[in-house]
Amino acid sequence: MAEEVRGPDTTALDEVVTFTSELIRIDTTNHGDGDCRERPAAEYVAERLAAAGIEPTLLERTPGRTNVVARIPGTDPSADALLVHGHLDVVPADPAEWTVHPFSGEVRDGVVWGRGAVDMKNMDAMVLAVVRSWARQGVRPRRDIVLAYTADEEASAEDGSGFLADRHAALFDGCTEGISESGAFSFHPQPGTTLYPIAAGERGTAWLKLTAHGRAGHGSKVNTANAVTRLASAVARIGAHTWPVRLTTTVRAALAELAELYGIDVDTRAGDLDVDLLLDKLGPAAALVAPTVRNSANPTMLKAGYKVNVIPGQAVAYIDGRTLPGGEEEFAATMDELTGPDVEWEYQHREVSLEAPVDSPTFAKLRAAVERFDPAGHVVPFTMSGGTDAKQFSRLGITGYGFSPLKLPPELDYGALFHGVDERVPVDALHFGVRVLDHYLKTA
Ligand SMILES: [Zn+2]
Repeated sequence: MAEEVRGPDTTALDEVVTFTSELIRIDTTNHGDGDCRERPAAEYVAERLAAAGIEPTLLERTPGRTNVVARIPGTDPSADALLVHGHLDVVPADPAEWTVHPFSGEVRDGVVWGRGAVDMKNMDAMVLAVVRSWARQGVRPRRDIVLAYTADEEASAEDGSGFLADRHAALFDGCTEGISESGAFSFHPQPGTTLYPIAAGERGTAWLKLTAHGRAGHGSKVNTANAVTRLASAVARIGAHTWPVRLTTTVRAALAELAELYGIDVDTRAGDLDVDLLLDKLGPAAALVAPTVRNSANPTMLKAGYKVNVIPGQAVAYIDGRTLPGGEEEFAATMDELTGPDVEWEYQHREVSLEAPVDSPTFAKLRAAVERFDPAGHVVPFTMSGGTDAKQFSRLGITGYGFSPLKLPPELDYGALFHGVDERVPVDALHFGVRVLDHYLKTA
């Protein structure tokens, strides 16, 4: 128990800042289509694990697209292993738009700035700092902890978690749960209220290609089979469609917790629950659940024609669709209906939706770890509107939770910084995260 009381040492608190900053300075921009090189960041992490006596394995499907996996043996051999994963790549950043250079890793006035400060070199650094402090203190966790630092999360994951799940499943033997990005950072819907949303699910991905066929011809002639008109009609119907409410177990649990917290008298288990009315009453806190009470489909790209006086025989559109757990069939049937007989649609890229139990011992421990270090905070489960590497690891039977704990100042709109301009994270928030992760990972 002495270790539990001790917590991370001051070196860990220094290292998390250094590691976040230095990882940001290693430009791992993922431009898509294979244009990224994570290897220098992977080597940075691997060297620091090795120096702490944790043996790293470097794995590549494609040269330069490096993943790092390591296992820390737990004290209880009968316990299932826990996966802690973080991606090493980041989305592009245009320096012209930023207050500081996005790859400077500058620490200014107690804040670390740069691309990846939020998504998600902060978490990569926190985990690294924690496990190194254990090595110094002679601490071993209860469960085996498998660390995975992945490539390619910001594109297809084919060189990252997808490759690891397909080709190196044995490295994850015994892992039943995982934690990673997008959750447990403080969210302040109004003064005096601090929520810590822990992700317990992700919507599925359904990227579609729509193709309208018609009769090609001269732009000055009557044409009742115009592919552009047909496509535009279908796209307009999809964009304007109001999807029916579909409450998953996680979202219903989130609504119940929020209603209770806000003193709203409503039975969130009722079949005829008026979700939109409840969201209205929740005010800014509704942002946690509003994106995940329905499937969604947004038109994002259009391609048709090459000359103003030529009607093309074909027109193409792309749709970013997202599906809730159990909502896949409804999604497909709705697309059949909205596209109509003249427009074909097909999946271009499809990923499963995820749902993790919120009444599990793991969720209870995650909640307790946050509330131990911020007793005034309220943990609320939520479902991510998009997806992460947890989808790939779910194929290995690993239940994923979004848990990258940070206690942030109320004035910082942290959610807006994901893939945003001036991405930054306060040093104090990193220290909070190190303390929470240290406690959770030791006792998980
Ligand atoms: Zn991310």
